[in-house]
Amino acid sequence: MALSRALRCCQRIFSWIPVIIISSVVLWSYYAYVFELCFVTLSNHLERVAYLLIFHVCFIMFWWTYWKAIFTSPSTPCKKFQLSYTDKERYEMEERPDVQKQILVDIAKKLPIFTRAQSGAIRFCDRCQVIKPDRCHHCSVCETCVLKMDHHCPWVNNCVGFSNYKFFLLFLSYSMIYCVFIASTVFQYFLKFWVGDLPNGSAKFHVLFLLFVALMFFVSLMFLFGYHCWLVAKNRSTLEAFSAPVFQNGPDRNGFHVGLCRNLQQVFGEDKKLWFIPVFTSLGDGHYFPLRTLGESENPLLANEEKWLEDGGSDEESADENEPSVIIRTES
Ligand SMILES: [Zn+2]
Ligand SMILES: [Zn+2]
Repeated sequence: MALSRALRCCQRIFSWIPVIIISSVVLWSYYAYVFELCFVTLSNHLERVAYLLIFHVCFIMFWWTYWKAIFTSPSTPCKKFQLSYTDKERYEMEERPDVQKQILVDIAKKLPIFTRAQSGAIRFCDRCQVIKPDRCHHCSVCETCVLKMDHHCPWVNNCVGFSNYKFFLLFLSYSMIYCVFIASTVFQYFLKFWVGDLPNGSAKFHVLFLLFVALMFFVSLMFLFGYHCWLVAKNRSTLEAFSAPVFQNGPDRNGFHVGLCRNLQQVFGEDKKLWFIPVFTSLGDGHYFPLRTLGESENPLLANEEKWLEDGGSDEESADENEPSVIIRTES
């Protein structure tokens, strides 16, 4: 018992190593850029002020988004999705798996759940004793169910999900801007050092490495960022890209795809002014998401509609011919 606790503690400490590495590299880049490049190498005063100003804006935005991605705790399913004491007792006492499944089906009738397990059963997390909302998954590192879980990212030592997906995307964007700005301004001094226009010294070493590190990070971030842009455009999480969410009438990769504009709004919010600022503006509460309907006749949602209304929810259907039609669910 004590050993497993010690192991867990070690694991927790080790999990911070990637964050410490990133932070150290960025802090070093600050020293190298501000002191070695701007103060030691640069001679033009105006150029120095301009470089420092833009650099600090990029630097602050990077830390702000990185901080928010790391320290925004993942959101977990609300109380409504947890089994009540009596339901739990009933579920645990029952030995027949079929009846157990039926118990979950009965409870889930009151909940806005449209996805199923591969087997067609209600998605239930044994460890958290909770009925999983759509797009929610259990993270074995965080040991909890995470709403709209995307993946567990070691570089932010946190689960990327509904609560911090916007921050994670902004972190990727500002990291790339930071790298591009450094690389583009450092390049001419790198050349000057190379051809011997500037004197040898510690500044040469720092400038050389600044360019190298900025380019290296930029290239690796570019692929990750490109992939996530594609995911946002398609309204898929990384997990959903690997295995399509299963609805009542089968798996559908595009089940949550409601058009590019609305997909973007789901992550970044409706106010475009706030898209690039790391404040939480994602739409909804992470428990349910608008669905792309599959046509009236085979619409599995209609079966759930009445039960929904009983629970105080209200449904609205938009039937725009140009946009995929979408069920908007609001809860009172
Ligand atoms: Zn769980
Ligand atoms: Zn996690």
